[in-house]
Amino acid sequence: MSLVDDLAAAGLTGRGGAAFSTAVKLRAARDHGAALIVNACDGEIGAAKDGFVVEHHLDELLHGAALVAGRNRGTRFAAHRGSRTAALLAAAGVDVLEAPDRYVSSEETSLVSLAQGGLARPMTKRRPFVTGGRDADGRTVRPTVVLNAETVWRIAQVDAFGPTWFRSFGTEAEPGPRLVTLAGAVAHPGVLETEAGVPFADLLTACGADPDAEHVVVGGLGGALLGVPDARECRWSSADLARLGASVGPGVVDVLDPARCPLDTVGRFLDHAAGETAGQCGPCMFGVPSLAAAWHRLTERPSGAAADEMRRVAGLLPGRGACRFPDGVSRFAGSALRTLEPHLAAHAAGPCPTQEVGAGVRRA
Ligand code: SF4
Repeated sequence: MSLVDDLAAAGLTGRGGAAFSTAVKLRAARDHGAALIVNACDGEIGAAKDGFVVEHHLDELLHGAALVAGRNRGTRFAAHRGSRTAALLAAAGVDVLEAPDRYVSSEETSLVSLAQGGLARPMTKRRPFVTGGRDADGRTVRPTVVLNAETVWRIAQVDAFGPTWFRSFGTEAEPGPRLVTLAGAVAHPGVLETEAGVPFADLLTACGADPDAEHVVVGGLGGALLGVPDARECRWSSADLARLGASVGPGVVDVLDPARCPLDTVGRFLDHAAGETAGQCGPCMFGVPSLAAAWHRLTERPSGAAADEMRRVAGLLPGRGACRFPDGVSRFAGSALRTLEPHLAAHAAGPCPTQEVGAGVRRA
């Protein structure tokens, strides 16, 4: 069997968040002689797993990249400028594509633009850039395939151990070993090798999550805020998390500090998002800051009208930008609104319950 056939049999999907079939992507790349960019930026908030692959599995990563590139020369490895990952890649003698340390700079089309002499900003595409052609502004784009570093490492594993080994991990629909970054209010932050379908509660135990934690962000800024009791009822798989409006995404689990008001924490996430828009699309440039402002108005004076306004602004964002950044932020804000409804009601009725706990009234 060819590598593409093996990848199809293994059911490997991209580990960067989009979960698209790697076999389909690789077949298109081969058909069009696409250049390869290995994305090791860890662009999502809290993510560290691609840096982990570079640090601990570099030989396999390089082997995977060689398998993908075949006879095509010019493979580049993207990492944030000045990062440890960039330094490790440079020390290995590969061609490092250094991207600014901004959220959308490591988006797939941003890296294609950067590699071809443009700015690290998303490009509007008429069709996947793996086929080349022109972007919506008429710029010529050479065929390029962007694969996340964990995905390229998994390609090397499928090549070495075969599809049956790969499918011995995970679920039928989401096969294979996976990395997850565990962050936030945890005793053991870091990257864990796991698989889809494990009980979410096991992940919380493995990282030593604060026993008082009430909320967890799954999938970063493009993911969802969940209540810990709901998350504990789930398995860590996109199929199971879907009933809570979440997915595995880029593999980040961020436990919120129970000593901080979750409304403030969400406000910080949304303020961060407002500062990360690449300023190219009006709905994103104005819409994401408007969303953050609507959240602050809501949390300062919780009311049904303020919540409705928050939902209205969030509803304006999806499908309006050149990239999916505003879609993800809208989804995150919507999940925060649903999950924190009781907390908003408590704020409307009196002092913040978290601050009462923080003042010393710890739960038993
Ligand atoms: S949607 Fe936002 S981040 Fe994406 S390209 Fe447009 S302005 Fe940039």
